[in-house]
Amino acid sequence: MSQGFDPYENQRAAVGGGARCPHCGAVAESRADEELWRVCRICGGPRIDLPAGVALPTSGADTLRKAEQLRRGRAASRALAVGAGIGAAAGLLLGLLVSFFGLSWGVLTLLVVAGPTLATALVARSKAESRSVDLRAALDAAWSAAAQAVARANLATTPAELAEALSIPAERAAELHTMLAVDAELGSLGGSADSAQLRIAPVPVDPRFQALEEAALAEAEAEADAALAHTERAPGRKLGP
Ligand SMILES: [Zn+2]
Repeated sequence: MSQGFDPYENQRAAVGGGARCPHCGAVAESRADEELWRVCRICGGPRIDLPAGVALPTSGADTLRKAEQLRRGRAASRALAVGAGIGAAAGLLLGLLVSFFGLSWGVLTLLVVAGPTLATALVARSKAESRSVDLRAALDAAWSAAAQAVARANLATTPAELAEALSIPAERAAELHTMLAVDAELGSLGGSADSAQLRIAPVPVDPRFQALEEAALAEAEAEADAALAHTERAPGRKLGP
């Protein structure tokens, strides 16, 4: 047995399994996270650990790095919003104190101290919110690239297998599976060889949607019939040359 003779064996296995963090470079496990799905135990950056032998496509790796930049940017914006908020509160208090000595001095203090800090806090907060939206979009793109890679390797065709392969909760896997199924469907319609190769179990058809679809189809047919009858009943108009 190699135990005791090859102290690096564990680490090598971990690297092969994709456990090297793309952000901090540490060989560390990822853990589940409510917002980012999986994060690095060391740096907290978003992580996607794929099964051994499956590599994250370049596009997925790029969007994952972008997601980490957005996460850091958002943390900075949030810190600024909190700091400026405290500054605005202090400015308000100072303005009140100063107004005891003269109302105009109090108003001046509010304008000079509380106003700009409050504006800074509001701008920083809205920036943090827009970064959250971008972060979500980047994560969706990265995870969808990962799910595609897993599907191409024929390691997962059902939501349950996807959840297992990517170590994510069942409902997240179901979302990704739906995205993949739609991609595969579009691929088979549009003739994209890339997506058509995906072997994905189709999403079960909801009977309610099917009823809606049939109703819409019947309505469209009725409209077409009516339009046809209308043109037939109008002999005065000539269509075409
Ligand atoms: Zn890390």
